[in-house]
Amino acid sequence: MTENRRETEKIYETDGLTFVFDAEVLSCDARKDGLFDVVLDRTAFFPGGGGQDPDTGFIDGARVSGMRQNGGEIVHVADRAFGKGSKVTGKVDAEKRLWRMENHTGEHIFSGVVHNVFALENVGFHLGDEYVTIDTSGPLTLADVEKAEALTNEVIRRNEKIEILFPEKDELAKMTYRSKKELEGRVRIVRIGDTDMCACCAPHLPSTGMAGYFTVLAFMPYKGGTRLYALSGSGAVKETRSRLNALKTASETLSVKPCDVPAAIDRVLAENAAREQERVALLTELLELKIAAATASTTAPTTAARNVPGSGYRAVFCEQADMRTLNRVGEKHKEGALFFLAVAGPAGKRKYVMKSERIDLKKAAPAINEILGGRGGGSAREISGSASVESEEQLFEAAERIAERFRQ
Ligand SMILES: [Zn+2]
Repeated sequence: MTENRRETEKIYETDGLTFVFDAEVLSCDARKDGLFDVVLDRTAFFPGGGGQDPDTGFIDGARVSGMRQNGGEIVHVADRAFGKGSKVTGKVDAEKRLWRMENHTGEHIFSGVVHNVFALENVGFHLGDEYVTIDTSGPLTLADVEKAEALTNEVIRRNEKIEILFPEKDELAKMTYRSKKELEGRVRIVRIGDTDMCACCAPHLPSTGMAGYFTVLAFMPYKGGTRLYALSGSGAVKETRSRLNALKTASETLSVKPCDVPAAIDRVLAENAAREQERVALLTELLELKIAAATASTTAPTTAARNVPGSGYRAVFCEQADMRTLNRVGEKHKEGALFFLAVAGPAGKRKYVMKSERIDLKKAAPAINEILGGRGGGSAREISGSASVESEEQLFEAAERIAERFRQ
């Protein structure tokens, strides 16, 4: 273990834009996982906190994959050892850090605006790799979100300076800022003009303009408040472009202007619903005709039994039918018959449904499955499953066998 712990000079606290720095190795300890805990006299690597993940990067050639804070000391987890006292160059993954700073700064501005305009607190913040989530202490409407988003972008366009303050204890007690709680030791305040004052340990951009653009992607009620999904900077631009592309495709497909896409979708859905109604009506008519034809058929002596009230059955074979319509038609035709049996669906994917008020289908299911060459089950009054029935003739043969077996 390292003997005398000392405070690491934290470059990121006051300067978020230094990604390459020179430092001296104060200690290097081997870890159980084969990696090394490296402590430098100064670092630009942010160890994580305030909703923001730790930085990654390199110390000379060694990859820094993890970070830890040990009191005032910052520990870098590196994949090779360094001699104590050696001079090294650290390189923070700048692209990742910039992405995070843009989004963290955007979040501060937005949370400040929401605090000032709607008197709501940010009660949960997470800076992920794909978007940011912000939870507010009370509900926000669409109009509120649009207003807060517009005001946030105004602050960004004004390119206001972002100040980092380390106030003395008595000075701090008099200050009004977000995230005010009993904090141990020195408190770091991030001030964005009149928009926001917040206690935060994470690196920030030097001015609001660098956040570029802030946008709320989605929001929903969450624990009595609102959860917002947002992006700033390059992430916001990229996501906006991809959403515009999606809208462009939809507008071209529907042959309407982008703004008219929602109305066009409503129209298409209404047309589909009407068509579906028409389809079900036609299908029902077809099923009724098929059942009537089968009942009137006299081609085989036994089929006459289909027509005998109470002892006959009703069977229908229809490749185009769907189970819902069959069920509805079956409910009507099971009445006054020994059973109603329908086989539907394309070859290889045939399904059957059987209803009866006279046969205990739950008990009869194994025998019926065997006759239909399928598998299935259900209740005493209704069973369904797969069937390997190739034609109407085959169905009638099977129905006849079932009727013979279960007719009393
Ligand atoms: Zn913060």
